[in-house]
Amino acid sequence: MILEPWMAALVAGLFGLCIGSFLNVCSLRWPQDESVISPPSRCPRCGTGIRWRDNLPVLGWLLLGGKCRECQARISIQYPLVELATGAAWAGMVLLNGVEWEALRGALLLTILLGIALSDARFYIIPDQFSVGGAILGFALAFLPGGVDWLQALTGAAVGFFLLWFVAWAGEKVFKKEAMGGGDIKMMAMVGAFLGVPGVFLTLFLGSFLGAVIFGPISMKTGKLVPFGIFLAVGAAATYLFGPALVDWYLGWAFGPR
Ligand SMILES: [Zn+2]
Repeated sequence: MILEPWMAALVAGLFGLCIGSFLNVCSLRWPQDESVISPPSRCPRCGTGIRWRDNLPVLGWLLLGGKCRECQARISIQYPLVELATGAAWAGMVLLNGVEWEALRGALLLTILLGIALSDARFYIIPDQFSVGGAILGFALAFLPGGVDWLQALTGAAVGFFLLWFVAWAGEKVFKKEAMGGGDIKMMAMVGAFLGVPGVFLTLFLGSFLGAVIFGPISMKTGKLVPFGIFLAVGAAATYLFGPALVDWYLGWAFGPR
């Protein structure tokens, strides 16, 4: 039987919802060095275990009205939103690429980037499972057809790592304080493994630009640390989805139509 494209996307989307559910747990527990397997999900206030049917992606949250069944504590809307976003990413990648390895590669990259953004936003930590684990995953996926090949993945990871390491080193010399965490450095190795050397540069450019424009003013005012990983994650996602189009647009804008 040949799978219709919309059916394949639907299956991928449902699978993505479940991945998103797991991503919620990972992005919350990995930064705190907790197991993602035990204990099972429970209400943070009353400690009641969450029943499997209440734990269904999105649906569980809706049926509970966003509240714990026992103590009525509010359950953050972040959970169903992350599940929806992950489901949309997986469905979208299959719609864009068809049932191909590239769809899996893209879906995994977007999932990892979302996880990094969530962890960095909440804990200012990018767990090694996302960065180092993601780099190994990206390198392994490079042996499949489509995307970057293994040599591009390897050089991408190396350049991503050492470029950020150098920026961090130089930043510390100039500003006399830690400008960038080790998490960002390892994260860019992951980005390089998925996107190659050009992807590293475009991600860094977009990430710095977004970080400076959006968080710069807030940071100046409040003295709050910049969760740079979020902006790098957005930059990497944009690079993966629109990279060639963005470069064309920029060159056209900077140097006039070619
Ligand atoms: Zn409760």
